[in-house]
Amino acid sequence: LASREAHPESSVIDVSGVKIGGGNIGMIAGPCSVEEEDRMHRIAEQVAKAGANIFRGGAYKPRTSPYAFQGLGEAGLKRLRDVGDAHGMPVVTEVTDPRLVELVSEYADMLQVGARNMQNFALLNEVGASQRPVLLKRGMSATVTDLLMCAEYILSKGNPNVVLCERGVKGFDPATRNLFDVAAVPLVQQLSHLPIIVDPSHATGKPELIPACAMAGLAAGADGVHIEVHDCPEVAKSDGPQALLPEQYAELASQLKSLAALL
Ligand code: PEP
Ligand code: MN
Repeated sequence: LASREAHPESSVIDVSGVKIGGGNIGMIAGPCSVEEEDRMHRIAEQVAKAGANIFRGGAYKPRTSPYAFQGLGEAGLKRLRDVGDAHGMPVVTEVTDPRLVELVSEYADMLQVGARNMQNFALLNEVGASQRPVLLKRGMSATVTDLLMCAEYILSKGNPNVVLCERGVKGFDPATRNLFDVAAVPLVQQLSHLPIIVDPSHATGKPELIPACAMAGLAAGADGVHIEVHDCPEVAKSDGPQALLPEQYAELASQLKSLAALL
């Protein structure tokens, strides 16, 4: 079902009115975690003004340590929904557990399956039974074939609304957080009709590398760009070191817009 052979025309996924694919660029931005209400409003206002069309923030965080901030849970979902509505953007947030799909679907326009859960087949089956669009991130050690097979799980359960995301794979060099596999973008587009976006924030882990990788992703044909933005990275609850400041995001978004006009 995910293959280009079965479905030659590129799919366009509609996220509560925002289209991704077939020439429509998804501009997903927001902090790693849902945080304080006033901060969320400030960030949302600035990214929306810069051109973001979908707001993100995690309420259930898959952290390496069980002692690290785990997210605000349902209170975070509610806050994300309210902030997205206030600034006219649909929202995407991660769902980490099949038992949470129903609850997260009540608040979110799009369900994110994170890299660590890409092959959580119980979760894929559950989001497949929903009709909410799914943002499926490539696992850090997953091949492109693995990624497409995971999309196949969701599609085969009856949900055709899948957007893929290249967010970097494990490399050997800790100089960057992950290794940004830009070739995966045209490869996925050759093999599949599903849209694919890039996440240079998790791929590089370094704000100064994000603009170049975002531009490279778009130039390679990506259907969107996912970027973490925080107005005070030093106090961020998660992934502060890789966050772009709102003004840096605005500059990048304008460069991406110029590039998209040439493609
Ligand atoms: C995230 O989007 O904050 C996240 C945890 O991403 P990934 O699953 O790609 O690590
Ligand atoms: Mn993050």
